[in-house]
Amino acid sequence: MKRIVLASNNPGKIREISEMLDGYEIVCPRELGIDFTVEETGSTFYENALIKAKALYELCHCPTIADDSGLCVDALDGAPGVYSARYSGGGDKDNNKKLLSELQGVTNRAAHFCSCIVYYDGKTVVEGTGNTYGTIGFSEDGDGGFGYDPLFISDDLHKSFGVATAEEKNSVSHRYRALKALREKLADISG
Ligand code: IMP
Repeated sequence: MKRIVLASNNPGKIREISEMLDGYEIVCPRELGIDFTVEETGSTFYENALIKAKALYELCHCPTIADDSGLCVDALDGAPGVYSARYSGGGDKDNNKKLLSELQGVTNRAAHFCSCIVYYDGKTVVEGTGNTYGTIGFSEDGDGGFGYDPLFISDDLHKSFGVATAEEKNSVSHRYRALKALREKLADISG
């Protein structure tokens, strides 16, 4: 089975990506004893994913994938976007609190999650992007998933990602769609 090192130690992401990329052995830097941190200095999800995939390749010298993802809210001109993880300066709960306060009195609650996943093997860069659309609720609903999940009411599922099962979320998620696009492109280049 082809091994790919994933540029993340985030348990939520590792679980989702491993479940969806069957046929590959996904390992994280920590499992290889690699202390991986890199500054996300890009202004787009693609730039950040590429920075991470290349930086990890320099450390492990085997194929890597990196994703960068976030929540883009229409009424906030796409914020928090690439700053989703760092939106409030605190953790998930603080981020959700800040988002609710920014959207106080705002009726257009349309938003989407975007994921860009980049594969890099020292020569070839392959990219897959996926989006999933929904609206931001007025309070948290459920405690499943991670990050902004309890606030994100999926257009596909008609409920929040916080109450959806992992299987339900995986079937419509931005990461699933990005991975699907990536997997198809990887199949093309490996013949
Ligand atoms: P990254 O680790 O730089 O890609 O940051 C992604 C951030 O976007 C996470 O820390 C979450 O705040 C948010 N995010 C990305 N994907 C999801 C998701 O599927 N559910 C909830 N929040 C997400």
